[in-house]
Amino acid sequence: MSIVITNLVYAYSNTTKPILNIPSFEVQDGESVALVGKSGSGKSTLLNAIAGIIAISQGSLKVNGVELSSLSETERDAFRAENVGYVFQTFNLLQGLNALENVMLAMSFTKKISDAKSRAKQLLERVGLSDKQTHKPRELSVGEQQRVAIARAIANEPKLLLADEPTANLDEQNTDLVLSLLKEVASENNRILILVTHEREVAASLPRSVELKSLNHV
Ligand code: ADP
Repeated sequence: MSIVITNLVYAYSNTTKPILNIPSFEVQDGESVALVGKSGSGKSTLLNAIAGIIAISQGSLKVNGVELSSLSETERDAFRAENVGYVFQTFNLLQGLNALENVMLAMSFTKKISDAKSRAKQLLERVGLSDKQTHKPRELSVGEQQRVAIARAIANEPKLLLADEPTANLDEQNTDLVLSLLKEVASENNRILILVTHEREVAASLPRSVELKSLNHV
């Protein structure tokens, strides 16, 4: 797995100035990178481009050698289900489903996993929540909700983990817990982890830190 960006330009519309203008950015297999930069500098937009949620209009963005802009939206959805685990600031768990069901749901988008229920149980155990399987998100602390979201993100064995401000809603103790968990699960399968954060200490805890301003030569 690798991410190779060359001369990427992205604007939300034809009439607005580009949000992203990145001459060159590479992330290699197994690397964990903190992506920092001022609010509005395009960090979430870049994550969404790497995940194939949005298509870049100019330049090249290759993930695992695949030029994402050459794929159709449906192909990008399939690519994402197969390769990408996403962790959000607000967890984005479905409120009507319990922890186990939230993790199982992620596995319904690929055919990779044959026994979703037992795998979901293992994943919840992996994040230290085997006793909370039947709890709905509102019956979990915010730290626990984020751990469910991490279990969900790795359910399909993605090679790429993208985390958008995953600790911004957490206190110090849960920040440490969630960060170590993310780093651990990233290292387990030599995954790439790209973690957007505005928290200096969180960025400093990762081996490489990149400021979007320094990439973004608008
Ligand atoms: P960051 O994550 O660094 O705070 P974002 O990627 O969220 O930055 O946003 C970068 C810029 O793009 C901001 O100016 C924001 O207002 C704009 N933007 C974000 N999403 C959209 C959208 N869907 N349509 C138009 N502009 C957007």
